[in-house]
Amino acid sequence: MIKTVVMGAAGRMGNRIINMICQSEGIELYGSVERRGHSAVGKDVGQVSGLETLGVSIVDDLNSIVNNCDVIIDFTTPMASLNSLKMAAENKKAIVIGTTGFSIEEKDYIHKMANKTRCVLAPNMSIGVNVLFKIVEEITKIIGKEYDIELMEAHHRQKKDAPSGTAMKLAEIIADVLNRDLNKVGIFGRKGIIGERSREEIGIQTLRGGDIVGEHTVIFYGTGERIELIHKAHSRDNFAKGAVLAAKWIVAQKPGLYDMQDVLGLRKERN
Ligand code: NAD
Repeated sequence: MIKTVVMGAAGRMGNRIINMICQSEGIELYGSVERRGHSAVGKDVGQVSGLETLGVSIVDDLNSIVNNCDVIIDFTTPMASLNSLKMAAENKKAIVIGTTGFSIEEKDYIHKMANKTRCVLAPNMSIGVNVLFKIVEEITKIIGKEYDIELMEAHHRQKKDAPSGTAMKLAEIIADVLNRDLNKVGIFGRKGIIGERSREEIGIQTLRGGDIVGEHTVIFYGTGERIELIHKAHSRDNFAKGAVLAAKWIVAQKPGLYDMQDVLGLRKERN
């Protein structure tokens, strides 16, 4: 049985991940952590998650429980996740990080630390979105040079980072295939007399409002036609399902940094 610790246990994703672990076979909830001072600390995590009492209290220090677990699942904040990764590396524990909004320097740090343990980092753990990544890569290879490519993402009003990690990942996939530098061709919103659109630019628009779980649209505009690919998350359970799948998978891997393409076997070869 794989013993899991869930970071951010009282958060929106933490709640769904705990529910998913309780419904899954071969994996159990060993511990749960919330930030110091959170009202859920000290409470039974089952009660906080809308389940029956699980006999697992929420603690405020990963260090106190990390030793006896196999894998940590972390959907919190960039700073908290980097700290979890450091502890995972020091204690040779596997880790799944779903948090988004890391800076380039923080991503470099994740690469370095992941080699000391086993880490899955993915801005979107949904199976559908990871299939979308693959399809977008293939379509870009076929028509990307001749078509204008635009992305749109929409999320709930509480989301802190923009554009979403998923939209950034989609833009990176497109830029990589077309050999373009996203720092130069990424256009994050438009205003004023902006002139004609260049063929090279990749437009990325962000919408925020209400309780939208997550929507991503990739559009390839051609002459007289367009292809639109849309993914809509109906609930957070699709991310939670992917996170639990990743946790079960990562415990058996060699040290290194992986993503959901690896977990789902969608990558032809490791980079
Ligand atoms: P949330 O704010 O509801 O939950 C985050 C939780 O982390 C909070 O309860 C907070 O108190 C807790 N936390 C903060 N610092 C902590 C610490 N040091 N130790 C322990 N807990 C700590 O946010 P959310 O909607 O659950 O999203 C969390 C992150 O996951 C965001 O970055 C979001 O973009 C990302 N996310 C990723 C995916 C994916 O598939 N990869 C899907 C949805 C959300």
